[in-house]
Amino acid sequence: MLTALLPEFNIERDEDRCIQCRVCERQCSFDVYGYDADHNVMVHREENCVACQRCTVLCPTNALLICESRYAYKPNANWTREAISDLKKQAETGGVLLTGMGCDKPHKNYWDHILINASQVTNPSIDPLREPMELRTILGRKPDKLRIVNGKLQAPDYPSIELSTPIMFGAMSYGAISYNSFKSLAQAAYEFGTMFNTGEGGWPKELRKYGSATIVQCASGRFGIDLEYFNDASMVEIKIGQGAKPGIGGHLPGEKVSEHISLTRMIPEGSDAISPAPHHDIYSIEDLQMLIHALKEATDYQKPISVKISAVHNAPAIASGMVRAGADIIVLDGLRGGTGAAPKTLRDNVGIPIELALAAVDTRLRNEGVRNWASLVASGGIRNSSDVFKAIALGADAVYIGTPALIALGCTVCQKCYTGKCAWGITTQDPYLSKRVNPEIGTQALTNLLRAWSLEIKELLGCGGINSIESVRGNRLQLRGIGLEDWELETLGIRGAGQ
Ligand code: SF4
Ligand code: SF4
Repeated sequence: MLTALLPEFNIERDEDRCIQCRVCERQCSFDVYGYDADHNVMVHREENCVACQRCTVLCPTNALLICESRYAYKPNANWTREAISDLKKQAETGGVLLTGMGCDKPHKNYWDHILINASQVTNPSIDPLREPMELRTILGRKPDKLRIVNGKLQAPDYPSIELSTPIMFGAMSYGAISYNSFKSLAQAAYEFGTMFNTGEGGWPKELRKYGSATIVQCASGRFGIDLEYFNDASMVEIKIGQGAKPGIGGHLPGEKVSEHISLTRMIPEGSDAISPAPHHDIYSIEDLQMLIHALKEATDYQKPISVKISAVHNAPAIASGMVRAGADIIVLDGLRGGTGAAPKTLRDNVGIPIELALAAVDTRLRNEGVRNWASLVASGGIRNSSDVFKAIALGADAVYIGTPALIALGCTVCQKCYTGKCAWGITTQDPYLSKRVNPEIGTQALTNLLRAWSLEIKELLGCGGINSIESVRGNRLQLRGIGLEDWELETLGIRGAGQ
């Protein structure tokens, strides 16, 4: 075939170690392995391998090695292997190239160009093992001034949510991820005192007991939405955009809409679940304002309403409008945000990094004197606790994480979520594969992750002589840039290292 592709990976099996147990064959969901009974040997089709590493990890004798392909086209700076492969795939299918997870292009990662300050002589550092360190975070509109009645501080009039740590699990819908993964996120958020986000795929009834740890989404498809759905949750999020695919909707193919998903999404079993690109009732900030207030009305003004947008060129102006429209929380989802499925060209070329969008939005809201009107949540590209710390110092109140949570559940970032064949049982509805995530073990892994990052954030606070995350919020003096141009430092609102 003219468009045949070179295999992306080589599979090396040590025949001296292999005991023909056929574990690799049973574990592989991409049809790579087979067994040749006549010769009592395992065989493989390298062209099917996606390097999910399920076989390598579970091979009982460590007989397998999956490595980057040694088959290569002639080196060419313009016509890279990826460019040639993509073109051949399109010549074969005539369709849009799909991919999973976040943008993997080498755009500058600003987290790696930002350094954090530490105390030395004055304002001495604090030992987080001996001193209390406060990570508690309140999200929602903040009052402009304190109200004291009869000598007592009054609670603010605005609805809010309280988190034990400034880290939440971002929106991942049931449908995009398996039930067991979804349940693990819900249970871990509940146990740790933070929030998980249902995404746009509805909220199974049996998980409503975790309502105090649940954010529900109101997206363009309006799947699984009724009054109970909003009122059983702690916060409602209007999803306008997603960092991985700004400006387009979503599509869950009918074959993934099982009986339980159909009940949860309130759509017929086997029907395609299509989320339109725009909300068909939102074409202006005034329209958004009407939806925000309709949701406030529906929830008796008891739940904060957030609005999530992709980080795009004019995010500061849009955020300003959203705050004035009554959003209590603004979520910015950056270019590197993950997804179950997105057109590759959109994922890799549309939007801007969260670091720049976050700093620009925080600056704009401060300059306009409306920063207290809404909390800011940053997402899309957070990889570790220092990214969280830097995001908060750039102006975020809290962050959402998606890909790190999936990695904690077993994901190896093979980017094949869109196939529905996730060998780790995470982004699949196949009952055989889904069982690979045990919700109790998943919950433990996720709470471990939250605990580890929280401890590290306390270490970062302590080394800066700070005992509360609140004191870091928007405190860009804690940061210095390295290897950045003047315009980048200016957008981030930080000085260069040594200044
Ligand atoms: S899992 Fe390992 S030992 Fe078992 S058949 Fe595959 S390569 Fe051989
Ligand atoms: S969730 Fe599964 S399919 Fe998606 S990147 Fe991770 S391992 Fe691969």
